[in-house]
Amino acid sequence: MSTANVVRGVAWWNPGSAGGYDGPMTDLPRLTVALTFDHDSISDGVRRGDSPVKLSHAEFGVRVGAPRILELLASRGIPSTWFVPGHTLTTFPDSTNAILAGGHELACHGWFHEDFAEVPRDEEREIVERCAEAVRSVTGSRPAGWRAPYWSLGTSSLATIAAAGFLYESSLMADDYRPYRVRLGDRHSVTEGSRFGAESELVEVPISWALDDWPHFEPAAERGRDGLSAPSKVLEIWTEELRYAHTHAPGGLLTITMHPECIGRGHRMAMLERFIDAASSLDGVVFDRLDRYVAAWSAGTRSGRSPA
Ligand SMILES: [Zn+2]
Repeated sequence: MSTANVVRGVAWWNPGSAGGYDGPMTDLPRLTVALTFDHDSISDGVRRGDSPVKLSHAEFGVRVGAPRILELLASRGIPSTWFVPGHTLTTFPDSTNAILAGGHELACHGWFHEDFAEVPRDEEREIVERCAEAVRSVTGSRPAGWRAPYWSLGTSSLATIAAAGFLYESSLMADDYRPYRVRLGDRHSVTEGSRFGAESELVEVPISWALDDWPHFEPAAERGRDGLSAPSKVLEIWTEELRYAHTHAPGGLLTITMHPECIGRGHRMAMLERFIDAASSLDGVVFDRLDRYVAAWSAGTRSGRSPA
């Protein structure tokens, strides 16, 4: 990468600092693209008692989707991040080993893909700890990342995740191309207004429905969610996000969320290849794992002016 594509001291939005901006002092690529895969497979179907047909739709992810994705990533030399529920990780060890053999990051995503808005706090702690231990048992170290199943969090979930020692969390949407520090203890009331808590060490890697394969492609019962989109429409959205971030967010991060049982279908894999081609054609774009990007970003924010 040429030095023109390395960004130093880029301004980051930080509502806690004077003037609203903070600047990491480390060098970051012009734009980092993180391809992330939520390897849900049958974890939530087992919990819900889904029908054989629904389970088979989910099984496609581990049987066909993941191997296809891993082959594509290997052929392009692209590292990625896999959020794997504990049930998937332990039920399909060959898939877990293939992810690790490819040099990809393994991160947590619940055990049976639980909805954390509906899980009591004690149970929440147990699930988080059980997931982190399952990852540690195969990688040898605690996982850096957590993504809430369904991107669903209860009122205590962020504090639970922060207390478990994760470097980053990836379920919130308050920014797009820039990580930020998670606030803990926000209080909102229709009578007393909103009081914001203090920033924690936990880093948020923001996500977006538009940058998730699932709502575009998977049919849903809700009105307005037809699914089965043409890949050309999704490619247009993702590519415009890519170009905008490349121009307007130097040093930034574009996080794409995908599911092997969804993106793994042929016409969608062809779209993913075209998206990778589009990103590779832009000067200074790199693909990386979230743990590495967040570590570099986090080191920068600590060594520079410290976030409030
Ligand atoms: Zn998921």
